[in-house]
Amino acid sequence: MKFELTEEQRMAKEAIRRFVEKEVAPLVEEAEAEAKFPLHLFRRMGNLGYLCVRYPEEIGGGGADKVTECILAEELNRICAGIAAALMVQGGLATAPIYHFGSQELKERILLPAVKGEKIGAFALTEPDVGSDAASIKTRAIKDGDHYILRGAKTFITNGPICHYAVVAATIDPSLKAEGISLFVVEKDTPGFTVTRKLDKVGNRSAETGELLFDDCRIPATNMIGDKEGKGFEQIRDTLMSGRITYGGRSTGVAQAAYEASLKYGKDRVQFGRPIVEFQVTRFKLAQMAMKIDVMRSYTYRVARLFDEGHRVMKEASMVKLFCAETLQEILSQAMQIHGGYGYMMEYPIQRYWRDGRLFTVTEGTSEIHHLVIARESGF
Ligand SMILES: Cc1cc2nc3c(=O)[nH]c(=O)nc-3n(C[C@H](O)[C@H](O)[C@H](O)COP(=O)(O)OP(=O)(O)OC[C@H]3O[C@@H](n4cnc5c(N)ncnc54)[C@H](O)[C@@H]3O)c2cc1C
Repeated sequence: MKFELTEEQRMAKEAIRRFVEKEVAPLVEEAEAEAKFPLHLFRRMGNLGYLCVRYPEEIGGGGADKVTECILAEELNRICAGIAAALMVQGGLATAPIYHFGSQELKERILLPAVKGEKIGAFALTEPDVGSDAASIKTRAIKDGDHYILRGAKTFITNGPICHYAVVAATIDPSLKAEGISLFVVEKDTPGFTVTRKLDKVGNRSAETGELLFDDCRIPATNMIGDKEGKGFEQIRDTLMSGRITYGGRSTGVAQAAYEASLKYGKDRVQFGRPIVEFQVTRFKLAQMAMKIDVMRSYTYRVARLFDEGHRVMKEASMVKLFCAETLQEILSQAMQIHGGYGYMMEYPIQRYWRDGRLFTVTEGTSEIHHLVIARESGF
């Protein structure tokens, strides 16, 4: 089994790091302070092939593998988890169902501009009363001739306030649970579709998150993804699984940022006449952080490689997500402790990593749900 990055992956990592440090890092302070995503990044990332990095180059993607996508996730999250979150939706759930199952017309009208960053996408599954139990969504899709009428509300939708379109999960018949759910493309100016609220969040502030309302929103039946009703869950299953592996990279990126900030602070901060990094307890904390980050990164690459080789990794994807998101919490807690009182002040970046990383045990499947997946996939 190979443990090192290939030459191509290593070069991609260097190029991505140069890009994020030069073009993303300078945007973070303002984006976070104003809770506004720097919109030009969509097109810029699209031009570079980073926005939808695993799609073929012929359609504007980066033609890269899963390992490289995890590297991209790590490097972006090392700089800013909020900005990363908004961008990662685009390469994942906002486009993948169309890429894999959409009609040629949807591909040309929605997917191609989305891959280039000309159209911003969102993915809307979660509802005010339905989160983890996603098969119980209440948003209805009612067939009316050659149209569907969507009726319902969605919440916590990343990119909701800035999207040009949303891929919306709705049920044809709630009693069918997962088998009643289809995905529909709803464009921004469709009558009946409104962003009712932009949500004020604790962290990941530069990713704009909102509530969406579908009030008898009438869309052409051809906006349904796939040609049969009730296939929505199947259509997102593999993308959700793939996203969990990417979460390993996302968690590693925030952990790496917290580690670097803590090491710097440990060298700068002097107490009892010497830098606190010279106290053995601080060195132990930093050593633990470095070790855990190495395990997070290696494990992410391992599962990403298995995925690239075509193995079924439903269990491993949940393990990566669970392990990395939970280990990140330990790292962030230690990083805050090393920073003492200054860690609690807004002027040091560690508080942002702590606020941002706290989300990671909740989104794209809570830690509890991933325990359940691992148990089910392990046969108990
Ligand atoms: C910032 C942010 C961005 C998001 N972006 C999107 C997006 O773009 N699109 C989208 O559709 N959704 C999005 N979400 C929603 C996210 O996926 C959900 O928050 C997540 O699925 C959990 O759902 P919930 O918050 O309703 O929690 P709940 O499902 O209500 O869970 C509450 C608690 O109960 C636990 N729990 C629930 N069921 C079980 C069980 N069976 N066994 C044990 N414990 C259980 C959970 O683990 C959790 O600890 C986002 C959320 C946030 C906060």
